[in-house]
Amino acid sequence: MSASTETKSTCCYCGVGCGVIITAEQGQITGVRGDPDHPANFGRLCSKGSQLHMTSTPLIQAQRRLHQPMLRQRRDQALTISDWDSSIAYVAERISNTVAEHGPDSIGFYVSGQLLTEDYYLFNKLARGLIGTNQIDSNSRLCMSSAVAGYKQSLGSDAPPCSYEDLDHADLVLIIGANPAYAHPVLYRRLEAARARKPEMKLVVVDPRRTDSAQDADLHLAIKPGSDVALLNGLLHICLWEGWTQAAWLDAHTSGLEALRDSVRDCTPEQTATLCGVSADDIYLLARWFAQSAASLSLYCQGLNQSSAGTAKNSALINLHLMTAQIGRPGAGPFSLTGQPNAMGGRETGSMANLLCAHRDLSNADDRAEVANFWGIPEIPAQAGSTAVDMFEATRKSKIRILWIVCTNPAHSLPAQAQVRAALETAELVIVQEAFRDTATAAYADVLLPAASWGEKEGTVTNSERRISRVRAAIAPPGNARADWWIASQIGLAIQTRFPQHFPHKQTLRLAYDNTEQIWNEHRELTRGRDLDITGLSYRLLEQSPQQWPCPEGQHTGQARLYTDFRFAHADGKARLICTPYQPAQDKVNARTPFVLSTGRLRDHWHGMSRTGVTPAAFAHQPEPMLEMHPQDMEARFLKHGDTVCIRNTRGQQIWRIRANPALRSGMLWLPMHWGEEFVWGNANGYTGLGVNNLVSPALDPKSFQPELKFSTVSLQKQSFP
Ligand code: SF4
Repeated sequence: MSASTETKSTCCYCGVGCGVIITAEQGQITGVRGDPDHPANFGRLCSKGSQLHMTSTPLIQAQRRLHQPMLRQRRDQALTISDWDSSIAYVAERISNTVAEHGPDSIGFYVSGQLLTEDYYLFNKLARGLIGTNQIDSNSRLCMSSAVAGYKQSLGSDAPPCSYEDLDHADLVLIIGANPAYAHPVLYRRLEAARARKPEMKLVVVDPRRTDSAQDADLHLAIKPGSDVALLNGLLHICLWEGWTQAAWLDAHTSGLEALRDSVRDCTPEQTATLCGVSADDIYLLARWFAQSAASLSLYCQGLNQSSAGTAKNSALINLHLMTAQIGRPGAGPFSLTGQPNAMGGRETGSMANLLCAHRDLSNADDRAEVANFWGIPEIPAQAGSTAVDMFEATRKSKIRILWIVCTNPAHSLPAQAQVRAALETAELVIVQEAFRDTATAAYADVLLPAASWGEKEGTVTNSERRISRVRAAIAPPGNARADWWIASQIGLAIQTRFPQHFPHKQTLRLAYDNTEQIWNEHRELTRGRDLDITGLSYRLLEQSPQQWPCPEGQHTGQARLYTDFRFAHADGKARLICTPYQPAQDKVNARTPFVLSTGRLRDHWHGMSRTGVTPAAFAHQPEPMLEMHPQDMEARFLKHGDTVCIRNTRGQQIWRIRANPALRSGMLWLPMHWGEEFVWGNANGYTGLGVNNLVSPALDPKSFQPELKFSTVSLQKQSFP
């Protein structure tokens, strides 16, 4: 009988990035506990992380995991088990021939914030370097691309300036568009502990719902959905009017003050109160607390990001920090939280359609030349690729012919599901690289490539506070599943060797690696001299302790806080004050669609539930999805708890059971994002409707291209079944 082993790794759920210790025996993961030495969690785990071992029990490994490659050569055939050599050769041939016939932009890569940094780097190199296309985007587009765009336009770089330890130093914490009590629980426990130690610390929550985070707040502003920019502009107006801004500091460290001052001149407390649906007194109180606290920290996430005005919301919040000089000091700064475990790694490797490696910009010719020189290829194409929603639209219109989907489930998670599924049906070849065989997207695959999962692979991830942690394998993957980077590497090598005529000048591009450390070393070299310089971080150093970036060569610890000298990342060192006029959401409330539908996370579930859906404990908190509505709205429509209702808009219709929730604003509906069409209540009664995301708006922010997942309008009627 083999001895039990213990392996240090990182939780694969949210962007808090908690360290875990995995116990394993006889090739099976038998337990998980928090790593007391990890600076993100100091041994704590939430309900999701502490159940991670339940997601790879022998039964799940046997029944749900993909063990072998599977493929079909025609759509009317069933998938059959294949082997790696045949599958790699088939994919390499189909990609090469399609590139030859339709050009490199006919291949699309849709990757994921669940990938490790080394996986991300290699897919990026495969797409841009070998194939010669920028048609690579990540599902992180759905969760934080507005934060990227906001940081870049305001501060000059996609660099969250804060650390978790800032929670200990803050005097006021503003949570806006986030519910960390559910979505970032271990970080929220840290905030609770800081408040217990420091009772004078203020907590303000801005959220249309009275969430668990809001219930703990000293002040909760339940604003109308989508009115965040109006509120933030109103707060700025008050700070200017009352003289709470820092004139000398602003003059030295920012530009754009006059234009911003003009743009918020009419944003009076009264007008703001009307637009936001909260009292002018509460708005005034928040402005005073924020400006006059010794250190104000804001935490924000999807409520700001998932919006057609997501970039404006981010910059409006950063404006408030800059105008009151609440940045660059312990406990002060705009701190975006990431939803996925390695959304940050995707940003660092440039694995999004408009980015390039190590925070380079695709639109910058010098940046493209640097990467091309480093990789030893003639050029990186200048044409930006399609971003997530548009990638599927381009596929539906046959501009993209082959879609390679890695470690994500767009048939569940993208908005306007009917269009997404039409795209998957239109594609000439759908390659799905997955750990699980039963996702909604796997059903569309022509080629299924079995991927190693959490606890089975090596690499690194970066959490919300820029801290890079090692991810380690505790057991071997089941069957013939392989690491994601290995699959990219092998298919790239097959393309290089078998079809050199289609990829001239790409024969010396390195795609062969023995392990993730070799990939890491190459990735970190590309960061040399950049704002995220990690040339000082070796795997050996990361084995000892997770580190924050930047950490240039010669240093042994990373940097906890950015902009401490108030020199920002724009060329002149000044931050930009950005005018952010308030724009309502794109779906309109009217007589036909009088309700605003918003979606979000439950405490114990994760994304499309491919993991938490097999953890019985995850259903104890809420066993089934129910549409939530304010009790007065229910009463006005003669609805009672448990009734079935049909919600509709131009994108589709669905039937859900309804329950009263006084935590919502009147006029709002709320659904958890986790359940797909198999759980839509009416579907069990002969009524067809895709999962919640089919009703969700695909409207995009014009700068971040992030879809407006938080604001869709619908009608509602009581539904009776015969
Ligand atoms: Fe995992 Fe996030 Fe929970 Fe930490 S807070 S254990 S990273 S899900």
